[in-house]
Amino acid sequence: MSDLRELYQQVILDHNKSPRNFRKLDSANRMAEGHNPLCGDEVTVYVELVDDVINEIAFQGHGCAISKASASMMTAGLKGKTIQEAEALFTEVRQMVTGEGDQPNADLLGRLTALSGVREFPNRVKCATLPWHTMRGALKGEKDVVFDE
Ligand code: ZN
Repeated sequence: MSDLRELYQQVILDHNKSPRNFRKLDSANRMAEGHNPLCGDEVTVYVELVDDVINEIAFQGHGCAISKASASMMTAGLKGKTIQEAEALFTEVRQMVTGEGDQPNADLLGRLTALSGVREFPNRVKCATLPWHTMRGALKGEKDVVFDE
């Protein structure tokens, strides 16, 4: 288990150091800003939606390593997915990091399972889920997502 944890940490550190899709997306037709007042994380998620498919997705912002790595992995995982698939993945990620609900589906989560270690740090769960709530807000046409539930 400690090897696995180390691997997870490496994945998170790697995404924090070299975030994927970390840019403004000029072709975006959906956009939302998310704030996590508890930690100070701020993320802007850009989505180019074509019909109901996420054709392109990118993000900008600043925050802790977990929020940045989660956003980076989210954009990598959601490109080419439908809104329904994005919603399903959102549910899996939330279940994984909160430890609530059904056992997470590791096949569906793929590399996102690297975020599962966050479960052991309840005050960091919102850091991991902020980009996902923001993405969801963008798809729903919400411009401002203050995540403080
Ligand atoms: Zn944070």
